[in-house]
Amino acid sequence: MKKIILDYTKETLSQMIKPSFRAKQIYNWVYQKDISTFDKMLNLPKDLRTDLENSFIINPLKIIRKETSSDLSIKYLFQCTDGFTVESVLLPMKKEIRDSDGTIKKEAKYTICVSSQVGCKIGCAFCLTAKGGFKRNLSAGEIVAQVLSIKQDNDIAHNRRVNIVYMGMGEPLDNIDNVTNAIKIFNDLDGLAIGSRRQTISTSGLSQQIAKLGERNLGVLLAISLHAVDDELREKLMPINKAYNIESIINAVKNFPIDQRKRVMFEYLVMKDLNDDIQSAKKLVTLLHGVKAKVNLIYFNPYPGSPFYRPNESDMNKFKNYLNDHGVLCTIRQSKGLDISAACGQLKEKTEHELS
Ligand code: SAH
Ligand code: SF4
Repeated sequence: MKKIILDYTKETLSQMIKPSFRAKQIYNWVYQKDISTFDKMLNLPKDLRTDLENSFIINPLKIIRKETSSDLSIKYLFQCTDGFTVESVLLPMKKEIRDSDGTIKKEAKYTICVSSQVGCKIGCAFCLTAKGGFKRNLSAGEIVAQVLSIKQDNDIAHNRRVNIVYMGMGEPLDNIDNVTNAIKIFNDLDGLAIGSRRQTISTSGLSQQIAKLGERNLGVLLAISLHAVDDELREKLMPINKAYNIESIINAVKNFPIDQRKRVMFEYLVMKDLNDDIQSAKKLVTLLHGVKAKVNLIYFNPYPGSPFYRPNESDMNKFKNYLNDHGVLCTIRQSKGLDISAACGQLKEKTEHELS
């Protein structure tokens, strides 16, 4: 079977293909010149191009569905070579601003939300991805391909900065080695040159793996899906809390290496009459005491048959104001795209439903 060229860091590729400077050239073609076949890599000798063609494929993903939401975010459903599907989302964060003469004054800003696994083992009660169970890890190249494909599909220039959030399907720290390679491949200056500080790993709180990620000192940002302030409720919502309780997560976060100017993000999925009360906000303030944190409140996004409800706006605002008034930086996630996004597996679910 052919290997996937996007799976390899430049370092590994330069050990596989001799002379080693070819790896840099291949990186340039694949990531910066958007070349999709090896025969177009004109500065490589003909026989090497043929060898590469026989041994590798470039992009393993195919776009099989695309949906634009009202806030202009675009959800993608990709198919892997073995038929499994995963979701990603392009979120335009800021629009391009042009001068009266048409020159670009401020460039558009984008965030791309990527999946790290087909399905997920963690089994959170509120999450649609969990419902389909776990199928397999994505390879580094399958993670990288989501960003490459989305950039190409939207004509986003290779040197245009994008942010990456690992908030799609799957638990990135349950696939830590492939995710680590994806981070490094994104980083490469001969490739997409997306710095670590533009990459956020979101985790359900695998404390031991948070420590492991920290030891690797990759410089990435961390987001914790907290969602509850006491272990009793958190265990019901997220069974992983039995193995790694809230205290262990907070300790892991305190030890995680992070840029002085940055904070760890705590995601708090708000569900009506479950965790939307001021008592919970109060506990959250206590919990985050001494942690360089910011809280992002997320409206629960209901799906057919979901056992939870969307909170109302006034409770959401009260919760936010309580945190801000008590010294904890807090925002409400505005992007519809992320609310209904990859995370929930909703596009995938819809497609399977329609196809069946
Ligand atoms: N497994 C990782 C990363 C993917 S999930 C994690 O859990 O952090 C990304 C986010 O989407 C999580 O914070 C998750 O709680 C949230 N999410 C899951 N189901 C959702 C729903 N129905 N509505 C809104 N957000 C949801
Ligand atoms: Fe997995 Fe995250 Fe969904 Fe939980 S919320 S089941 S960890 S994808």
